[in-house]
Amino acid sequence: MNQVIEFVKADVKKEKPAVESLGFGKHFTDYMFVMDYNEEEGWHQPRITPYAPLVLEPAAMVFHYSQSVFEGLKAYRAKDGRVLLFRPEKNVARMNVSCARLSIPQIDETIVLDAIKQLVELEKDWIPDGEGTSLYIRPFIIATEPSLGVHPAHEYKFMIILSPVGSYYGDQLKPVRIYVEDEYVRAVPGGVGFTKTGGNYAASLKAQEKAEELGYDQVLWLDGVERKYIEEVGSMNIFFKINGEVVTPKLNGSILGGVTRDSVIELLKYWNVPVKETKISIDEIYNAYKNGQLEEVFGTGTAAVISPVGELGWKDVAMQLPHAEAPDSIANRLYDALTGIQLGKTEDPLNWTVEIK
Ligand SMILES: *Cc1c(COP(=O)(O)O)cnc(C)c1O
Repeated sequence: MNQVIEFVKADVKKEKPAVESLGFGKHFTDYMFVMDYNEEEGWHQPRITPYAPLVLEPAAMVFHYSQSVFEGLKAYRAKDGRVLLFRPEKNVARMNVSCARLSIPQIDETIVLDAIKQLVELEKDWIPDGEGTSLYIRPFIIATEPSLGVHPAHEYKFMIILSPVGSYYGDQLKPVRIYVEDEYVRAVPGGVGFTKTGGNYAASLKAQEKAEELGYDQVLWLDGVERKYIEEVGSMNIFFKINGEVVTPKLNGSILGGVTRDSVIELLKYWNVPVKETKISIDEIYNAYKNGQLEEVFGTGTAAVISPVGELGWKDVAMQLPHAEAPDSIANRLYDALTGIQLGKTEDPLNWTVEIK
């Protein structure tokens, strides 16, 4: 770590919340990282300052035209006290992919990775200790130029904030109930579905509300053109185990390429479990279900790691997937393997963790 980052000390430190009351993204640590962009200086003045509200002009472009991107990753505390990140370079690289699509200037990936490490090192006492807990890291960029003309902004702010988060599950994976959405769509080819930008989430809320009204936890999106091919879940990618083979939708420009998705594919290959990225229609899934060949469905994402699906609702059928909870399910094996690597409990055969020291 060699980047010179200006440091402004916090006068008061917050009280750390109890592990039981953590939840997700409700508490924030004492410090944040900030740097600014303008055309003359590029990205400049990297600094770690006390976590505090921002002062922005009401005309700041992000408020009007949504030019923004974000990332999400976690820092874990290993049993032996080491602080570990999981494939952080993937998140930083993906941020630049999002920036390119949203006409936001590229960030220096080395500088941003270093900023993540320095901020987490400074705030490592905030990494909770309980099983399944972690420190969630949220880097993001917003367009700050005050202007109502529609054009790529000339000024931006890059920030990293940290939030201690609780366990997603108790001591057992809890299956989710998912509703196949065939009215609203999340993304279309040529759009921004493959990026992490706030607008994708704004567009998804209506369908999420509908799913909840129908008694489901989350939405499974179909493609935006034919409403026939499977894309992904709210903030997770999706996998199916059909007749012994694991399949997941191929990245097609409207699906977000998850780091967890990539890690699952790599692990399955490492284990010699057949895995395929391909176009999958909802009819194929239903037919596999009817023929008794749909063995498992699970979602993947940083927040929950692996989320077994216990029920898939589509039109007026409710596909029941009882195997999700079986100890020998592929979902359970993947969950144990990934969290074992992330927490430094097991071997890291693919060299995914990065220790902060
Ligand atoms: C972040 C995200 C995912 C999961 O990506 P991970 O890198 O595995 O956390 C999946 N879908 C959407 C829409 C997302 O925003």
